[in-house]
Amino acid sequence: MSERRSVTILGATGSVGRSTLDLIAGERDKYDIVALTAGRDVAALAELARSFRPQLAVIGEEAAYPALRDALAGTGVEAQAGEAATIDAAGAGADWTMAAIVGTAGLKPVMRALEDGRTLALANKEALVSAGALMTRAAAASGATLLPVDSEHNAIYQCFDRAHPTSVRRIILTASGGPFRCRSLEAMRRATPAEAVAHPNWSMGAKISVDSATLMNKGLELIEAYHLFPVGEEAIEIVVHPQSVIHSLVEYADGSVLAQLGAPDMRIPIAYTLAWPERMETKCERLDLVRIGTLGFEAPDLERFPALGLARTALREGGAKPAILNAANEIVVAAFLESRLGFLDIASVVGEVLASYDPDAPSSIDEVLEIDRQARRIAADAAGKFSL
Ligand code: NDP
Ligand code: MG
Repeated sequence: MSERRSVTILGATGSVGRSTLDLIAGERDKYDIVALTAGRDVAALAELARSFRPQLAVIGEEAAYPALRDALAGTGVEAQAGEAATIDAAGAGADWTMAAIVGTAGLKPVMRALEDGRTLALANKEALVSAGALMTRAAAASGATLLPVDSEHNAIYQCFDRAHPTSVRRIILTASGGPFRCRSLEAMRRATPAEAVAHPNWSMGAKISVDSATLMNKGLELIEAYHLFPVGEEAIEIVVHPQSVIHSLVEYADGSVLAQLGAPDMRIPIAYTLAWPERMETKCERLDLVRIGTLGFEAPDLERFPALGLARTALREGGAKPAILNAANEIVVAAFLESRLGFLDIASVVGEVLASYDPDAPSSIDEVLEIDRQARRIAADAAGKFSL
């Protein structure tokens, strides 16, 4: 890269945040770190701040301020705490911001970064699912560049001819199928949180790992793709590809299909966004096609993975439905991780919430967040009826 770039990482202590810092660690002279943020893990944030020396470290939980301040005493790194401080950090003027907070908690910071009109690398898919239209409108108004980090969307971004969007006929989103791809419904009913987070190909945070096991992750990604690329919902197809080597494909009018391939390592799509519009060296494993031998493809099974159908219906119905889907899912995934309900209950509770709550379409972020809160209340009530 020709010039030094200033960067901020929202959600620095998470799986994507750490992968981003790992890439930066290899080229420290090219980056100035403006801010690192986390939710509650003061020790992890303080450790990263001590080694990467950002101007600012922000912990989301207000009460954690004294602990962060004490941990950073003498380092020259300013400590801040609270939601407003996290939003301010997103707007602190970095050339490039990684949005890697998990869940709707990331929505306001993401909007703040988009309004700033610089480059936003977006991992936080839940923000786009809940408020896709508002986010893409904000990016268009400010001239911000929105680069998808999610491996599938990053693949599509690399293959999509943005100068000739009408020549695209179809987007094919690949799904690994998750850890339960070959399990019977009966065995899925008994699945434990530990089994659900053990993804066969990717190492990720707990919430997205459970989403990959239910295929809700692919449902959220369908909605994400709809907002990121100018094609209709019916032109986005999902294909199960267990090896996670082809990260997604774009089909053109003439029948040509372009795909992006790579080892299943999030540092590859993150590196693409970090160096964009150039390319950077990484130490990531190189693809060895001969060793892989065979690539497989199958249709997703909507009976065992109903979350995928719920997401497509929510996208078709539009309005508040995707935000409700996302909020209810966050609540029931948390309940599943605490063993308060079973694996198959995740999609059934999300379906119940979608059926029982039908507000008007949101026209502002505050309205999205109000729908989000209400959907969470309904989902928590429904989840509370279970006792394992
Ligand atoms: P993790 O759970 O590993 O990390 C989440 C990060 O968000 C942590 O830094 C966490 O801080 C912070 N955080 C959590 N809650 C809050 C809050 N209320 N306020 C402020 N910060 C908060 O998640 P991942 O890194 O796996 O995922 C991050 C995002 O990227 C998600 O939206 C996910 O869907 C998406 N993504 C992830 C991929 C992956 O491979 N992991 C792949 C594609 C997309 P703390 O440590 O203090 O809790
Ligand atoms: Mg993905």
